[in-house]
Amino acid sequence: MVQASPKRGTRPGFGAYVASLLALAVVGSITVPMIWHGRFPLGDAKLWLFAAFVMLGELLPIRVPRGTHVEEVTISSAFALAVLIVFGPWAALAVYVGACLVADLIRRTAPVKLAFNAAQSAVAISAAGAVLGLLEAEHGQLAGSELAAILAAVATFFVLDHGLAVLGIALLGGESVRDLLRRDVAFLAWTSGFLLTLTPMVVAGAHESLWLIPLLFFPMLAISFGGRQAVANAHRALHDDLTGLPNRAMLYKRLNEVGADTRDPQASVAVLLVDLDDFRAVNDTLGHDHGDTLLEQIAARLESVLEPDELLARLGGDEFALVRPGRSDGEALESAAKRIAAAFGAHFEIGGVSLEVRPSIGIASAPVQGLHPNDVIRHADVALDRAKERRTLYELYSAADDEYSIDRLVLAGQLRQGIDSGELVVYYQPKLALQNGGPHGVEALVRWNHPELGLLGPQAFVPLAEHTGLIEVLTDKVLDAALAQCAAWRGEGLEVRMGVNLSAHSLLDSDLPARILGLLDRWQLPPDCLQLEITESKVVADIERARKVLGALHAVGVRCAIDDFGTGYSSLAQLQQLQVDEIKIDKSFVIDMDTNAEDETIVRSTVELGRSLGLTVTAEGVESETVCRQLTALGCDYAQGFYIGHPLPARGCRQALAAATRTLVGAHA
Ligand code: C2E
Ligand code: MG
Ligand code: MG
Repeated sequence: MVQASPKRGTRPGFGAYVASLLALAVVGSITVPMIWHGRFPLGDAKLWLFAAFVMLGELLPIRVPRGTHVEEVTISSAFALAVLIVFGPWAALAVYVGACLVADLIRRTAPVKLAFNAAQSAVAISAAGAVLGLLEAEHGQLAGSELAAILAAVATFFVLDHGLAVLGIALLGGESVRDLLRRDVAFLAWTSGFLLTLTPMVVAGAHESLWLIPLLFFPMLAISFGGRQAVANAHRALHDDLTGLPNRAMLYKRLNEVGADTRDPQASVAVLLVDLDDFRAVNDTLGHDHGDTLLEQIAARLESVLEPDELLARLGGDEFALVRPGRSDGEALESAAKRIAAAFGAHFEIGGVSLEVRPSIGIASAPVQGLHPNDVIRHADVALDRAKERRTLYELYSAADDEYSIDRLVLAGQLRQGIDSGELVVYYQPKLALQNGGPHGVEALVRWNHPELGLLGPQAFVPLAEHTGLIEVLTDKVLDAALAQCAAWRGEGLEVRMGVNLSAHSLLDSDLPARILGLLDRWQLPPDCLQLEITESKVVADIERARKVLGALHAVGVRCAIDDFGTGYSSLAQLQQLQVDEIKIDKSFVIDMDTNAEDETIVRSTVELGRSLGLTVTAEGVESETVCRQLTALGCDYAQGFYIGHPLPARGCRQALAAATRTLVGAHA
């Protein structure tokens, strides 16, 4: 029997529906036996045998997987119909309604649902009895015409039983009957509909010999066992072994289902991707077993903050996803992200160690109409990358961040060609020593001379190169050009150190140290001519790898600077681990330090910090003479910025360097 289960309390319409169904059940139970009442032989073993199967079917429903959930079908109705055919409506009503009541009482079903189930079974079985009575089958005999009558009764039972349930579910859930039927009819026909075709066989078997009936137990057992196995297999295919949470396949199924389940054109679904910061470090230091324990604990905590309709999945590794069907505005999404963050609030106890774990969360939502799960997940992934990069805990997807939008893809193709055909150019920005006004170095800053779009700054294409695997070639091109220029200047007697920016992706490239040494060798330069600059926030994201690559370069004398210092969250200990030589204070603190006291304090303390660690300090973004003087007074080592010189092609940079040196040296004199 299909059951309507109240989801959110019982709706008033449902109560009235149950009451009228009960009335109909009473009317049916009285009138149908008037057409024919059959027999109710309490001493007949066959009746008791059928009744036992009805009860067994009610108590042990067969579980079958359906999409992302499990449905139950039962053989009780097939046997109840057999009772109807062999003994008549009285016996069938007593056995079937009785078994439903007993099963519901054992399961402690809520009274209104119990009443519904009893009424539903009484109405369905009486209607089938009426059909059988009206077609005047010679009961218990299975000649050709009787078989037709039996099948008609079975069909009536099927339609009423499921029809009443669908109506009940529609009243409870507010879904339209049409939608429910469209979704369920085929499945119901395949499962419980097919089970009902057992009825004629049961009747025929019992007619032949009573002993044939218990034999039916074995095929029933096989079906039930097969169903269980299928449910277990389906569960395994859709769940993660470690945490028991739904897996990626289930997530996709669920996303497809939300699209199919609703006809609200405005409906949308949101995906929050959760990734742990530095999970690798846990695995590397505590071992994979403890890493697994941590993932289990995290899964449990995340489950505890879920809201009713939400689904939590583990996508693999340290990545989890939360799906929120329905409309969610920015505020709701933000509060979902905060719920997730709160789950990480307390430390995790793993192998006697207390760990603090931080998540990054990428959020994307999409209308369910025409939804392709890949798209919304990819968008959440883009937002996740953004959150990691900015260390902001969570970010909402924005197309502007999306390296893979169509425009971006076209640009990526062009970049590949552009690099090959020499469209990348390197500009140089001078850097002066504040304490004596002499030229100290230059920083190489890449530009792309795009044939249609003109000169593009690094922000427009370096992230693109990072995401399309072009960053390696780009870095090599810039390094080669910059070192060639450095060698040329040295040949002319201008001894400057060359700063080159490294992308965080390059720190994953274990061949990089060897390639750099090759280039230094090619241009006959001592290693300390080269200073690599790495943005603070990016080093901190994966400090362990940064340490390996930078360590190898440091060992041979190449210098390393932390760029945009103050925008990340590096600690002293981390900086020391990295064997850094210089910090470059981010321009956002320097530009207005003459008018903004807070900025001035930050710059002052950074200069002091650098000194106490034995590092040189460069201030970026020096745009005015006042700031230049202030920095000199603070004891800052080097200055870089528009006041000293803009990034320019080599010739222009050389001139700017000479002019700035004259000004500064003049000022010192
Ligand atoms: P960065 O390494 O911090 O470079 C300094 C940026 O600040 C440059 O922007 C420069 O033009 C700008 N700047 C310099 N002085 C001033 C000033 O006084 N005021 C203001 N408002 N801005 C100033 P640019 O060239 O657009 O480069 C942006 C970023 O792109 C660089 O920041 C660097 O992180 C990255 N980048 C540049 N070239 C490369 C490269 O070859 N490889 C990689 N991976 N990244 C690069
Ligand atoms: Mg830089
Ligand atoms: Mg910088």
